[in-house]
Amino acid sequence: MGTRIILKSEAEIRILSEANRIVAATLDMLRKKVAPGVTTWQLDTWAEEFARKRGAMPAFKGYRGFPGSLCVSVNHEVVHGIPSKKVMLLEGDIVSIDFGVKYEGFYGDAAITVAVGRISEERDKLLRVTRESLHKGIAQARVGNRINDISGAIQDHVEMHGFSVVRQFVGHGIGVRLHEPPEIPNYRRNEPTPRLQAGMVLAIEPMVNAGSFDVEVLRDGWTVVTRDRASSAHFEHSVVVTKEGPLILSQCQV
Ligand code: MG
Repeated sequence: MGTRIILKSEAEIRILSEANRIVAATLDMLRKKVAPGVTTWQLDTWAEEFARKRGAMPAFKGYRGFPGSLCVSVNHEVVHGIPSKKVMLLEGDIVSIDFGVKYEGFYGDAAITVAVGRISEERDKLLRVTRESLHKGIAQARVGNRINDISGAIQDHVEMHGFSVVRQFVGHGIGVRLHEPPEIPNYRRNEPTPRLQAGMVLAIEPMVNAGSFDVEVLRDGWTVVTRDRASSAHFEHSVVVTKEGPLILSQCQV
């Protein structure tokens, strides 16, 4: 991957907006389907069918060999959980659902974490703080700011509430490729980071752990879990930097 950040034209942003609208609608559909007794495999099937009906291809399926359309990560799973008929959601679980599509050559990417029935106060706070940190980060996606302003706003909000941000996985630019420069860490870096310009499209995605930020990959080669097995949450939006400020492309329209 090169280091050049590709600025998008208005026409390209319109297609990226369409791609992300399909992702947002899919996630909204899934949010309503999440319930005790539902398997993560069912969620995957519904997502793929919903996106394909709208002319979009699931972007994660086959990406570096990933077997599903969704990344579905339950409780202490952080990201990249594999959809499975054996994983049934239970009351009190939290489930992170990350979905991407390719539509007319451009990618959309977003994620939400959803409560399964009634959840503990700590998990409820984790979901709230992670979602808030995403929006603190998005608010910094302004012309003239730097990537570090986004990263720092997320980190400060998360750590202020006693949680930690995952170091090993980061947000990214998005366009004709799912992952483009720049990298968008959810923590401040002690080095110069790129300055933001109008036309940059960024997938900002805090992954927040209730305990330590340490993670490990399970033997399936994909599922990332917290090392201490404490809960983890993940929210993501694809955002375009404009002269008027940040515009969320993956916001649900309904
Ligand atoms: Mg992403």
